Amino acid sequence: MNQDLSQHTPMMQQYLRIKAEYPDHLLFYRMGDFYELFYEDAERAAALLDITLTKRGKSAGEPIPMAGVPYHSVESYLARLVQAGESVAICEQVGDPNTSKGPVERKVVRIVTPGTLTEDDLLDARRDNLLAAVLPFKKGFGLAWLEVSSGRFEGCECDDETALRAELARLSPAEILLPEGSALNLPVEAAVTPLADWHFEPDTGARKVRDQFDTEDLRAFGLDGAPALLGAAGALLHYAQSMLRHDLKHLTGFRRVHLGDTLILDAVSRRNLEIVENLRGGEEHTLASILDTCRTPMGSRLLRRWLTQPLRDRATLSARHDVIEQLLDGWHEDTLRELLKPVGDVERILSRVALYSARPRDLVQLGTALGQLPALQEALTGAGLTQQAEALAPQPELHDLLTRALVDNPPMTIRDGGVIAPGFDAELDELRALRDEAGDFLAALEARERERTGIPTLKVGYNRVHGYYIEVTRTHADAVPADYVRRQTLKNTERYITPELKEFEDRILSAGEKALAREKWLYQQLLERLNEHLAPLQRAAAALAELDVLAALAERARSLNLTRPALTDERGIHIEQGRHLTVEALSDEPFIANDTVLVEQPMQIITGPNMGGKSTYMRQTALIVLMAHAGCFVPAEKAVIGPVDRIFTRIGASDDLTSGRSTFMVEMSETANILHHATADSLVLLDEIGRGTSTFDGLALAWAVAEHMARKVGAYTLFATHYFELTQLAEQLDGVANVHLDAVEHGDRIVFLHQVRPGPASQSYGLQVAALAGVPRAVIARARKKLAELERHSLNAQPAQPQLDLFVETPQPDPILEFIDTLEPDAMTPREALQTLYELKEMRDHGKE
Ligand code: ADP
Repeated sequence: MNQDLSQHTPMMQQYLRIKAEYPDHLLFYRMGDFYELFYEDAERAAALLDITLTKRGKSAGEPIPMAGVPYHSVESYLARLVQAGESVAICEQVGDPNTSKGPVERKVVRIVTPGTLTEDDLLDARRDNLLAAVLPFKKGFGLAWLEVSSGRFEGCECDDETALRAELARLSPAEILLPEGSALNLPVEAAVTPLADWHFEPDTGARKVRDQFDTEDLRAFGLDGAPALLGAAGALLHYAQSMLRHDLKHLTGFRRVHLGDTLILDAVSRRNLEIVENLRGGEEHTLASILDTCRTPMGSRLLRRWLTQPLRDRATLSARHDVIEQLLDGWHEDTLRELLKPVGDVERILSRVALYSARPRDLVQLGTALGQLPALQEALTGAGLTQQAEALAPQPELHDLLTRALVDNPPMTIRDGGVIAPGFDAELDELRALRDEAGDFLAALEARERERTGIPTLKVGYNRVHGYYIEVTRTHADAVPADYVRRQTLKNTERYITPELKEFEDRILSAGEKALAREKWLYQQLLERLNEHLAPLQRAAAALAELDVLAALAERARSLNLTRPALTDERGIHIEQGRHLTVEALSDEPFIANDTVLVEQPMQIITGPNMGGKSTYMRQTALIVLMAHAGCFVPAEKAVIGPVDRIFTRIGASDDLTSGRSTFMVEMSETANILHHATADSLVLLDEIGRGTSTFDGLALAWAVAEHMARKVGAYTLFATHYFELTQLAEQLDGVANVHLDAVEHGDRIVFLHQVRPGPASQSYGLQVAALAGVPRAVIARARKKLAELERHSLNAQPAQPQLDLFVETPQPDPILEFIDTLEPDAMTPREALQTLYELKEMRDHGKE
């Protein structure tokens, strides 16, 4: 729009001038009770919001496309636009329409972008809403993130793109700032906002951070000698300040995250384990959805952070476990949870307090929360949790102030008043009284003056020109007191004013306006008072959130029968009777608990039929390890866990359609990542490696991968496979064990036993199962022969493969086959039959040694 502005109407000139400063944002231009959008903005918003596109008069000879939304429901429209990744510049009328010549002065007061939201209506209460900045630097990346709505400001350095992606997957920011022209291909869910390179200058960043925290010392934040991080942090500060048009006083520090201190999960594993998001992108049936019984939104968010960033620091984890145990010991969790119920989202409220955008209801809620602190403190002291009790630090004066200052159910905004409670401020009370009861005041004054002067006809009146007056008929002129000042003389009467009445007049004339102004001023004072105490209030909010999470975890531990895990220095993962919480919650059948013992033999080759429970077993192991490192109790009778640095998963065939890579390509690049990065302390889940290619390629790859993991890496590895040949590894390598799962067919039904057993699955069980189902014996016998042939054939085709002894016909009669031969259908239940099979098999295998 470079055309000559002078052809436009004055208002459109103003619009176009402002719009020119915000070419990339939708401009919401306030006109009376509406925000209007014009030209392309109108067309875009009409399509996105499904609102009517109209035309407004003409400017420069052309009709102007226009669309508008009413100001009182603007938030719901903003929510939808922001969700669609749009940013909106809000332009308000700031001048006085009565005194303006030409269009009222207007100004952009704030820019709403996906990553800088603070309004409750625009935010998901249970999820962090993060703004992130990425600075590619030498070989690695600086990554900083900021949650404007809570004041959390953190960052880390990532060595490579894989690490960066993993962190971004964990954080799942709403908006990502990138230097202009950067060619990074980032997760598509976030809105990507390019910023001029110089906003990412490390020196500028250092200055911005120093200014923000009013300190020379960057070391306290782990930012000295970290140029990539400084650059990213500086860009964040610049952007957030300019979008919010306000100081970010609620940011009290920067915390540098060292990835080595955390249990690392890459993006794929995070998805596979369905921690906070399920494989379909929803929230149901995730670990978070099962564990989150928090009473406050800030607790829910903190729990999600704990689950998405498990720690390795055992002291911190034990401290969390200790509190849960202590709560459970004394049955304290219910009391605490009851007291936490009315607390609300203090964390986000305080951020709005800092930005001076807190609504009246925020402050009422804050008052309620502060009111809960003494009782919570007492309950914690009673539970022996003195440190937690102290952290709550009640603020009785502020609680008292808020309770006295605010009405119980204030309106949405301070705009029309009615927020400050009566009795809080004498001046406001008087103004309101005047506004509401001017008549009473005048009647009282009249009565008093009649009595004082003894003039029965004395009257108080008002006219527009002269204002208020006391009117006395001339016959009583002598009785007029000395403090009456003549104002106007009429034919038979004199009109006077007294100092009291003059003062009343000054006040009454604009009592309504003054009351409102006073209220706004008092509200501002209240915000200022709260801001003086912002830091301790934020600390109390953090303590409340943590308490909420721990009380919820204690409640879950009792309800779901979880136990305290032991984290030790000694290598090994030893889980007894472990369970998978989501599978357990979803199933009507009782869940079959299983042990996972990865101590002397850190690798297990898992065989068994489809749907047998292999991946459930693998995932539950990973989830138990993860939960232990989040500070939760775990679904097992016992869990002893040595050092674990990372969890890797390669599960299922997730076609990466967005990048156009084939299933096999994805599978192999995920596997490559694991082979490169896994250490002896990593927990690795590998499911069906090699499936995406031809049988022999696949088998060869699977074999090589398994062998590499066992020989070279020594990681805790659960390796589920259909390649039965892999079960041979256990005989060749000390660290490898075979386990298997089984199923039986019964009539037209398959019964899965879901029990993890030692040893490889017996392939001939397929035939046994068929026999159980009543397939004629002659057919089974033929099938058994055929199977042996097939097996020999496949072995001949792969001379490199070790010999398999299981299917080579044995000279002695096999007790298992004998048992099957004598088995009559329906003679016993499938479970009983299988039990017998296991016993026979154990006897046979044992006899062999
Ligand atoms: P696989 O990976 O062997 O194909 P899954 O682990 O996906 O099998 O399990 C298939 C289904 O069996 C699960 O969705 C669940 O309903 C059920 N299941 C698995 N393990 C158990 C268990 N231990 N106890 C009860 N049900 C289970």
